[in-house]
Parts: sequence; C-alpha cells; structure tokens
Amino acid sequence: MKENFDFLMPSVNFFGAGVIKKIGDRAKMLNMKKPLVVTDKVLEGMDNGPVSQTLDSLKAAGVDYVVFDGVEPNPKIRNIKASKKMYLDNDCDSIITVGGGSSHDCGKGTGIILTNGDDITKLAGIETLDNPLPPLMAVNTTAGTASELTRHCVITNEETKLKFVVVSWRNVPLVSFNDPMLELDVPKGLTAATGMDTFVQSIEPYVSTNRNEITDGQCVEAIKLVEESLREAVANGHNVEARTKMVEAEMLGGMAFNNADLGYVHAMAHQLGGQYDAPHGVCCAMLLPIVEEYNIQACPERFAELAKIMGENTDGLSTRDAAELSIKAMRQMCDDVNIPRSIKAIGAKPEDFELMAENALKDGNAFSNPRKGTKEDIVK
Ligand code: NAD
Repeated sequence: MKENFDFLMPSVNFFGAGVIKKIGDRAKMLNMKKPLVVTDKVLEGMDNGPVSQTLDSLKAAGVDYVVFDGVEPNPKIRNIKASKKMYLDNDCDSIITVGGGSSHDCGKGTGIILTNGDDITKLAGIETLDNPLPPLMAVNTTAGTASELTRHCVITNEETKLKFVVVSWRNVPLVSFNDPMLELDVPKGLTAATGMDTFVQSIEPYVSTNRNEITDGQCVEAIKLVEESLREAVANGHNVEARTKMVEAEMLGGMAFNNADLGYVHAMAHQLGGQYDAPHGVCCAMLLPIVEEYNIQACPERFAELAKIMGENTDGLSTRDAAELSIKAMRQMCDDVNIPRSIKAIGAKPEDFELMAENALKDGNAFSNPRKGTKEDIVK
C-alpha cells in the first residue's frame, strides 16, 4: 500500500449516451484547427459508427480533419510512422483517436514520435518523454483497455515481436469520451475479450504492491460492475444498461491501474500478444486464474476479500480457502464468456516460453506483482 502517490487521468471525461455529439465543440474549445483522426478500417467502414459520428460532430462545428485508418490490432511501429507521415503531410495540429486500445495507443505513439524523436523504442519505460504531445482527445469504443484515460502507450515492435510500453503523464489524453451507445454492436467475442481485460485491470491493482486507498475503492466497484453486467453484455449486446455498467467498470478499472499499476498477468500477456499477435483481452483472461492462484501466498487476505467482492460465500472458511474461492470465481467468469482455457488456442509454442518468460520479468508491469517470481515460475 502506498501512502504518497500521483493520481493521473484526463482533466475532462464525457460519459453517457449521446456524449459523442459534443466532440466538435470541444475540439473548437481546444483550438484544434485540423486534427488527425486515428482509427482502424473496421470502424471507418461502419455506417453511422463511432468514426462517422465523430466526423459529423466535427463538421457541424466547422472543424477540418484528416482520417488515418491504418491502425492494426496490437499497433505496430509501422502504424505510428505512417500516421506521423499523414499528420505532417497534411499540416495537422492535433490528434483525435477513435476506437479501442489499439487506436488510442497508435494516436499516443504518433504524438510521441512527433515531439520526442522518431525512434520510439528508445523511449520505452517510465517518464522518458521530455516534450508534450500535440493536443489529444480520445473517443473510446470498447470496454475495454481504458487507454483513453491512461498514461500508457503499448506498441509492438514488429521486427522483434516484442510489445513495449511508454509510460508518461504526457500520454494522458486531454479529454476522453465514453458513449455506451457506440458499443451496442461490438460482437460477442470482442465484448468478452475486452470485458475480461477490464476485469483483470480491476483485480491486478487490488493486489498490486503500489495500490492505495483510492484505487482499492475503484477496484471494488469495478469488479462488482463486471460481475453484474459482463455476462449479460456478451449474451445481449443491445442491453444498454449492461453496456453502460461495463463502461463504468472500464473507467474505474482504468483509473485504478493507471495509478496502482498491474502485475504478471499483463507482463505475460504482453509477451503472448507480441509473439503471436493475439487479442490482448483473451491473453489476459487465459492467464488470470493461473497467475492469481500463484499469487495467493503473497497476500491471502486480499484474495479472500476478492472472493467476497465477487459474490462468493466465504462464511466460516479459513483465509486460504476463502482466497481459493476468488480463483474459482475468476475461472467461472472465463468459462461463462467462452475464454479458451489453454494458451494453445492462440498458437503458443513451448519452445518460445524461455524467452517470453525472460521478457515478462523485464516488462514494466512485473514490478508491482505481489509475489516475486523466477523465470522458471513464469515458464511453468
Ligand atoms: P482493439 O482496439 O485492437 O480493437 C479490436 C477490434 O475491435 C478492431 O478490429 C476494432 O475495429 C474493433 N472494434 C473496436 N470498437 C468497436 C465497436 N464499437 N464496434 C465494433 N467493432 C469494434 O482492441 P482493444 O482490446 O480495445 O485494444 C487492445 C490494445 O490495447 C492492445 O494492443 C493492448 O496491449 C492495448 N492496451 C493498452 C492499454 C493502455 O492503457 N494504453 C491498456 C490495456 C491494453
């Protein structure tokens, strides 16, 4: 538990049905003359989807824009370079990201290399940025990574197949938009994967060595909201209440991990994502019960509390038995939203494990894990 801490998030956060309509006016208030709208081809191609609604609002406010739709899942260095080129070729002055974590991180990465030097690999780590990014707003469309709120920018080096993170207060967008109506058509598998990312991002900070009282409160509410609504959001995507609660959970979990950090689930998921280009939420979800079972011995009382928060009856149980119930609840959630149990499902190969384990222990998220592990532990 930390007693002195920084607490970072965007200074303005729009939440609720219809807030996307405010983006044009907000762009004007920020004096954006020609933002680069950073997104992917799926979202760009949707009729009346998040991109077209963003562009409609910009047009209505008389704000010019250019669209970069070259974001790939697990955004690569080539994506931020292409996006930077489009920004410079078109004399843009600001960035608006529309999408999930990949669009937000590509927009942040673009801003980073525009003002801090072209080689982003040299900037991996914590507080490595000397200069501010161009003004940045984020329209979020998955619940989700919470990258629209965070100081993290996760990029994949396509040559080394390594995901790396640039963590800086300068990456926090100025304004975030979370409009649940933009998420009603997110397909089931994507709802499950991104929702599990939110679940993990609410559990890891709760047992992190960098947690504080404020992030604890955020984690508790986020976990309860996921328990109440994720299964329903997956089963019935047009249930506005379930979608809204998942967005609330996403924002709470995002605030929590932005300030209390994560653990081995994310440190290891980054290796799977980088190596096999697999969906981030699925990687996190598959690892969650296994890593947390390993972590129990470091703080069994925290896991016993987690079991209660997840709705398990722990009356009369020892702390250890109650803690085990939290793992059962995590597994149940994974099964209920159809997360595969084995990393074979994403093509993971044992011959890659040694190197991935070494890299996981160097990942920035490893340092706040409650139990300190060895390479052999990670391989196992
Ligand atoms: P994503 O952004 O890669 O999107 C996945 C797919 O979903 C894309 O094809 C996209 O077009 C589609 N999609 C997005 N919104 C949609 C909508 N409303 N309707 C229909 N389809 C939609 O997925 P993600 O899980 O949000 O982001 C994953 C990335 O974020 C990974 O690279 C991960 O490492 C990173 N991440 C970043 C942070 C951070 O704080 N920066 C935190 C966690 C994860």
